[in-house]
Amino acid sequence: PEWTGVGVRKTFLEFFEKRGHTIVPSSSVVPHNDPTLLFTNAGMNQFKPIFLGTVASTDDMSKLKRAVDTQKCIRAGGKHNDLDDVGKDSYHHTFFEMLGNWSFGDYFKKEAVDWSWELLTKVYGLDPERLYVTYFEGNPDMNLEPDLEARELWKSVGVPEDHILPGNMKDNFWEMGDQGPCGPCSEIHYDKVGGGRNAAHLVNQDDPLVVEIWNNVFIQFDRQKDGSLKSLPAKHVDTGMGFERLVSALQNKSSNYATDIFSPLFAKIQEVTGARDYTDKYGKDDVDGIDTAYRVVADHIRLLTFAISDGAAPNNEGRGYVVRRVLRRGSRYARKYFNAEIGSFFSKILPALVDQMGEQFPEIIKKQQDIKEILDEEEEAFARTLDRGEKQFEKYAAQAVNSGKKKLSGADVWRLYDTFGFPEDLTKLMAEERGLETDENEISIAREKAREASKAIKEAVQTFAKLNVHQIAELKDQLQVPVPNDEPKF
Ligand code: ATP
Ligand code: MG
Ligand code: MG
Ligand code: MG
Repeated sequence: PEWTGVGVRKTFLEFFEKRGHTIVPSSSVVPHNDPTLLFTNAGMNQFKPIFLGTVASTDDMSKLKRAVDTQKCIRAGGKHNDLDDVGKDSYHHTFFEMLGNWSFGDYFKKEAVDWSWELLTKVYGLDPERLYVTYFEGNPDMNLEPDLEARELWKSVGVPEDHILPGNMKDNFWEMGDQGPCGPCSEIHYDKVGGGRNAAHLVNQDDPLVVEIWNNVFIQFDRQKDGSLKSLPAKHVDTGMGFERLVSALQNKSSNYATDIFSPLFAKIQEVTGARDYTDKYGKDDVDGIDTAYRVVADHIRLLTFAISDGAAPNNEGRGYVVRRVLRRGSRYARKYFNAEIGSFFSKILPALVDQMGEQFPEIIKKQQDIKEILDEEEEAFARTLDRGEKQFEKYAAQAVNSGKKKLSGADVWRLYDTFGFPEDLTKLMAEERGLETDENEISIAREKAREASKAIKEAVQTFAKLNVHQIAELKDQLQVPVPNDEPKF
């Protein structure tokens, strides 16, 4: 069959519903009750209390044994941060949907493996020859056994041995954050080239054509504050499949962005900017940078819309600052590559997204007007300094090039932030475009100095406020007030 995005999502939910799972709604992308978490980064987040055994028996959730959903996720900060890859690759988004099925102390590895294989190969009809699976190889330092059970289970469903690969802590031991539920996992990867080749050596190598699509996590531990692992009272299954990646495989596309999930957004971007057609080229092949800009803008409007609709408005700290950074990064791409006027750019793309995703996530229909106003206000604020900031950046970049250093100093990066509102990741990106390096250490030194300076000023003001008129007059005579330098040195 021809798979539409909508059909793929529906099929997933129904497959597990038929197998005793309750369809639950996505939770908010803003985890209002979890201070350890910047944004919802996986489907399991909302079930964390069940895994940890802390769910109240009066909570409806406590009765759940099996659940299935599609979860709105954001990975643009915290432990899972993909922001720097977005636009540059074909399969990481800042905002994406994660399809997932769960067992809460109910079924375990066998059913999870059987069902994921059945769904992918029998229902969705993916070619088994193009699929590879991985299992956790173990870690003696942490006293963790290899997951040979998972390896045997994959064999039992018919996966040939050369398609079953061991993986390390980084790839095959899933953790929600620095603390919290975790466990060994078994992932499924899809080779988009096929044709009888063996792509085992490309699994987990960041090859855009051999992509991880589904992760089956066997939650058994709770990572403690001190880094140790505590066994949980029960064992659980927690799976997560990238909806956009699955659709891209089923629609036979080399990239997520070439699917019907993104095409309405690209059509809108083109209508608004008059840009050339999107051609899905990457890296050096994207000679004029336009394809990258399409991806960035289409990705970022999704994050902005869902974050704002769930209550994370742009501001200067934590979640709000992620939203601000993403808006500024996107605005600058739109201006540089599409020549778009910044001020109300993103809100012109918004209607296309609401049309496309409003049925599944009605909150964005309901909040559309608020989202538009917040986007416009924030974009206008940035538009006021964008122009001057870019000029200032050019000045710094030229100085760096002329001095033969090929490095933008930490003080310059800081000034662009402090005076022109350029988030550090945006400045780093601009520097990278110019072949200039930046130095994390220098940047944090500049940041720290600025913090100390502002603290010192605050203290001085407080001391001054306590003086009486005579003391002030005396001070005036004594002090030789230096002429303020408009280029503070850090
Ligand atoms: P990758 O190795 O590709 O970064 P991951 O191992 O970090 O993925 P998991 O934490 O295992 O991802 O999440 C489960 C699934 O969610 C992945 O198998 C993938 O299909 C999807 N996914 C993860 N990150 C992203 C992202 N940034 N954009 C789109 N889909 C994603
Ligand atoms: Mg990742
Ligand atoms: Mg991975
Ligand atoms: Mg994974």
